[in-house]
Amino acid sequence: MNILVVEDEVQLADSLAEILKRNKYNVDAVFDGEDGLDYARTGIYDCIILDIMLPVRDGIEIVRILRSEHNSTPIMLLTAKSEVEDKIHGLDCGADDYLSKPFSTGELLARIRTLTRRKGEVEVDYLHFEDLRLNRQSYCLTHGENSIKLSLKEYQIMEILISNSEHIIPKERFIEKIWGYESDVEYNNIEVYISFLRKKLTAIESDIRIRTARGIGYFLEKKP
Ligand code: CA
Repeated sequence: MNILVVEDEVQLADSLAEILKRNKYNVDAVFDGEDGLDYARTGIYDCIILDIMLPVRDGIEIVRILRSEHNSTPIMLLTAKSEVEDKIHGLDCGADDYLSKPFSTGELLARIRTLTRRKGEVEVDYLHFEDLRLNRQSYCLTHGENSIKLSLKEYQIMEILISNSEHIIPKERFIEKIWGYESDVEYNNIEVYISFLRKKLTAIESDIRIRTARGIGYFLEKKP
């Protein structure tokens, strides 16, 4: 498993690399934002440990650029105490996790294990629920021979429904996950997309329907 460390405090970068190598990771360490971005863009890493305050380009900018280029490598930000605002901004821009300095070796390794495991899950091509299959690359929803393409928002809603098929999912959850915490999106936006999805489920003749839990949210159910 390959890990990229981007950290301008050379001593910290070296000791991180040392710890990771001892735990059987392959590690590259670079010391400024420009190298960090170049290395990260190769796409060979399973995880990137990224300091926020860096020479040339800061960590937040690197996250933003990588995500805009559809690079989905898990990123853990390293933050000093004074950088709380940056940390929040970093997560908003698409970083997966953060660790405040100073941190323990045990915590670092545990977080990396979680991040790299999550990446494995994201690589699964399909999500399944009963007779439904959702392609995570093409956004096609399939039932038997019938297939229909979902828009991005429809896909995101269906992904949440299938991934949490045991539960009623509150409308706020959809809004937080798809539009973000601070969005002004109204509940009726969700309702509109749900109605599109229901039409598409009918179009592919699926036995699955999206049920409304009145006043709460939605869940998937097989038609009786
Ligand atoms: Ca720094």
